[in-house]
Amino acid sequence: MRLHVVALGLRTRFRGITRREVALVETEGPDGSSRWGEWSPFLEYDAPTAAPWLTCAEEAAAGGWPAAVRDAVPVNVTVPATDPETAHRIVRSGGCTTAKVKVAERGQTLADDVARLEAVRDALGPAGHVRVDANGGWSLDEAVRAVGVLDRAVGGLEYVEQPCASVEELAALRRRVDVPVAADESIRRAADPYRVRDLEAADIAVLKVQPLGGVAACLRIAEDIGLPVVVSSALESSVGIAAGVALAAALPELPHACGLATVQLFTEDVVADPLLPVDGMLPVRSVVPDPGLLERHAAAPDRLAWWADRLAAVGAVRQDRRS
Ligand SMILES: [Mg+2]
Repeated sequence: MRLHVVALGLRTRFRGITRREVALVETEGPDGSSRWGEWSPFLEYDAPTAAPWLTCAEEAAAGGWPAAVRDAVPVNVTVPATDPETAHRIVRSGGCTTAKVKVAERGQTLADDVARLEAVRDALGPAGHVRVDANGGWSLDEAVRAVGVLDRAVGGLEYVEQPCASVEELAALRRRVDVPVAADESIRRAADPYRVRDLEAADIAVLKVQPLGGVAACLRIAEDIGLPVVVSSALESSVGIAAGVALAAALPELPHACGLATVQLFTEDVVADPLLPVDGMLPVRSVVPDPGLLERHAAAPDRLAWWADRLAAVGAVRQDRRS
C-alpha cells in the first residue's frame, strides 16, 4: 500500500483551516491497475479515532464496495449562515431541489434564520425541500420554539438536523415537535447510531463513511438501526466522496438527498473530473486521481513522514486490540 499526501485549498475557512490535508492510499489490483482510497481524519484526531477512517480507505482500495442499486444520487445544496441575498444566489446557482440551511449561528437571531429561510424557499420554489442544520446550537426549549417558527417560515421543513447537542435532548425534542429530527454530530463512533436508536432520539441518521469504518459497515448500521439514512461527507476530495456515493448508491432505500456535494468547497482536487453534482445528482462512477494533480498538490515531504507515522500508530492500535 502506497501513501500519497496532498494539501487542497478551501474556498472558505472550515474548522479553522484553509487547506485540507488528505492522504490517499494506492494499491495494485489483480489486473495491475491502481486502486485508490482516501484516508483523511482531521489532523487533531488521535490514532484510535483515525483507525475506522483507515478501514474505509482500505475497503475502497481493495475494490470491494457493495453493489449499487442506483446510478445517481440526489444531493443537497448547503447554505451557510449568510444574509438572505447570498442564500438566494447559492440556492439558485446550485441546481439542487433540496437545500440544507445553517441556522442557530452564534451572534445571529431567529429573525436572521427566518429571513434566510424565506429567501431559500423563494429560490427553490414550492416543490423544493428545505432542511435546517443547527449543529447542536439550541437548548431544548429554544429548539421547540425555533423549529415551530422555521417550519412555518418555509411552509414545512423536511427535517431539523442536530437541533440540540445531546442525544437525550434530541429524544426529548422529538416528543415535542412534529418536524422529523436528524442526528449528525450525535453519530461519530461506531456505537453511536445504536444509542440514537435505543433512545429513540432521531427519525433520520446522518452517516459518514470514514468515521464509521467504510461502506459495508455503514450498510450494516443502516440495516440494524432501521432509520432512513442521509449520507454525508467529511470534507473530502473526490476520492473520499466516491466512498460516500458508493454507500448512498447501495442503500436499499434513499428517501432524502445526501450531503455529498462538498467538492465545491475546495479550490483544488486530485482528479481531473471532480465529483460535482449535475442537476442536483452525483453520478455513481469510479474516481481515479490524476498523477499530475497529485504531484502539483503534494504536501511537503515532512508531512508525508508525519502521515506514515500516523499510519504506524493506527497499526499499533489495531495490534493492541487483537492481543
Ligand atoms: Mg450537520
